[in-house]
Amino acid sequence: MSASAADMVTIGEPGDVRRWCDVRRSDGRRIGFVPTMGYLHQGHLSLVELARQAADDVIVSIFVNPLQFGPSEDLGRYPRDFARDSARCRSAGVGLLFAPTVAQMYPRPIATTVEVPALGEGLCGRDRPGHFAGVCTVVARLFNIVGPCVAVFGQKDYQQLAIVRRMVLDLAFPVDVLAGPIVREADGLAMSSRNAYLTAEQRRAATVLSRALERVQQQAREGPLTSETVQGLVAELVATEPLVRLQYVQMVDAATLAPLDNSTFDGEAVVALAAWVGDTRLIDNVLL
Ligand code: AMP
Repeated sequence: MSASAADMVTIGEPGDVRRWCDVRRSDGRRIGFVPTMGYLHQGHLSLVELARQAADDVIVSIFVNPLQFGPSEDLGRYPRDFARDSARCRSAGVGLLFAPTVAQMYPRPIATTVEVPALGEGLCGRDRPGHFAGVCTVVARLFNIVGPCVAVFGQKDYQQLAIVRRMVLDLAFPVDVLAGPIVREADGLAMSSRNAYLTAEQRRAATVLSRALERVQQQAREGPLTSETVQGLVAELVATEPLVRLQYVQMVDAATLAPLDNSTFDGEAVVALAAWVGDTRLIDNVLL
């Protein structure tokens, strides 16, 4: 039986989270875990639903992780609304909301870093040095706090998902990683907490990103695509929106994230992009 909506507890201390999980696991219950930075939207809640289907008790963590923000990035202004997030988790059937302060999460300056350089240096890694090391380090710490679980990540952050999967394999974390598809707004824009930064005009312009990826998908149905075709197609469409500046678009192997330079590849490919819309950096991708 799943915990009823009224049963949700909120915990800040990692040791208390571990005890809560240990008690449930000793009763034979499976823990589902959804790590987030909060300001929850339907994309996050779709992962909670997947976790509920795969496990008996669901934990959501809300932690805006300073380690994964560069010095000129948006750590200070990252959107937060704890009361709304908490209400959303409660009505989604979450059993435990883990919401540590920075001091609770990192009680001492962190001296250990986890990295997956083979997958973390391309794509977003090139534009955000240190970002994925910050992600891996916090996710490794979260996995050790929660213990054995099914952890659910979104395909929205495709590179992050691939890196976490590889970290789990390489370091033998007792974690099964599940992936949830990208949840989009009605006009195609991938849901993101950062969409809250956009003005109405930027919000409208930002739809060019999903439209460009949709165009790529259509072309892929008609025949194999080269990397140059994909880049040309996306760059051309994005250039029609003066408010949007493409940072990169790349077609890569979905498992290794290695760039694909020819059309003979018959495995799964992903086309990933990042773009600036004003001061807001957005990402999106599509699997081919
Ligand atoms: P964040 O709070 O942005 O760190 O995201 C927490 C988790 O939610 C990550 O696994 C993201 O990939 C996932 N996520 C964010 N946006 C979406 C979306 N639109 N659809 C599906 N998953 C998402």
